[in-house]
Amino acid sequence: MNAPLPVNHQVNDATSLPPGSSAGKFFEVRFESIGGLGAHAAGHVLATAAVLRMGMNGAHFSSYGSEKKGSVVRSFVRLGADNQPIRVSAPVETPDVIIVFHGVLLRNPATSRGLRSDGTFIYNAPAGVIPEELKALPRSARVIRVDALGIALKEKSRPNAVLLGTICGTFPWLDAATVLATLSEEFAGKNPAAVATNEQAFRRGASEFEIIESIGEVDGDLPIARSDPEWGYETQPIGAVLPEPGNSAWNDMSASRTGLMPVLEGAKCIHCGVCDLVCPDFCLVWGDGADTSKFERELMGVDYRYCKGCLRCVESCPTGALAQEIETPGLADRLRVPLFPEMIK
Ligand code: SF4
Ligand code: SF4
Repeated sequence: MNAPLPVNHQVNDATSLPPGSSAGKFFEVRFESIGGLGAHAAGHVLATAAVLRMGMNGAHFSSYGSEKKGSVVRSFVRLGADNQPIRVSAPVETPDVIIVFHGVLLRNPATSRGLRSDGTFIYNAPAGVIPEELKALPRSARVIRVDALGIALKEKSRPNAVLLGTICGTFPWLDAATVLATLSEEFAGKNPAAVATNEQAFRRGASEFEIIESIGEVDGDLPIARSDPEWGYETQPIGAVLPEPGNSAWNDMSASRTGLMPVLEGAKCIHCGVCDLVCPDFCLVWGDGADTSKFERELMGVDYRYCKGCLRCVESCPTGALAQEIETPGLADRLRVPLFPEMIK
């Protein structure tokens, strides 16, 4: 049975404008995500629904890193009443809403920067342990958790459909039926089979969220993230010099995983090395065998810092020693076997 959609209100009359509109301010949303989870598409659907179907003014754009799956993506939506033209095209620095698509992004302080003290912070995580990082949010902000990945996996959808449902469920003036219709229309042309699954994911996102009480410890708005360039024309090094060469050992690929990870059950492992042959990212850690007459080298585990969750190792393992598991907060940190222990301070 379909979950009910939240009750909605008209938004294009003077009494029910988006929060802040009457004070000449826009309603601003920042999606914090990584490539492949659909943040850009979510922002596009929200802005399209607001502008073409709800009579509002709106703007949407995204910023990408290398545009590679797994890199940081930020998507910005700015909405205003129909009498409020939008002439700003800068990124959203002081959002009313931040929507976090992946738990690993909570580790980055830039994710929550600029959140208003009366803002809303929606993050994707299963129920259970509440991340410590949420203490850095404003005391008076509304904090909402939804298991977007778990729902998406179950409904064969993507987290963006779930999180669109959650923002509609938490802001009643956003017409959930209209946003859902826009989402369905978007997919009807590209992937008709995804319409029903996305709809169910959206409905569950609109109703299956949890408000986390009394977690933020900061008074007032959070500061804006602005990075000043380290070097200017007076201080830059001589041309062609790389004073800080990159080193892939410091790379952290954790954000590339989208909910599933390989887990080793040592007792089943025959140390054949097939997993190592197929792993594209040098994640499997080998050590001296306990009984060298049997195995000279043994598989000790996975360094999840480099694992992007492609699961080729799981598919190739002949004994089932590597199995796929849903990644819950902290699981990778607990099971990680470091490839370069000397790098851990
Ligand atoms: S493929 Fe499976 S059995 Fe072989 S080393 Fe890897 S985990 Fe062990
Ligand atoms: S999931 Fe992919 S990246 Fe991670 S250890 Fe297995 S093969 Fe390597």
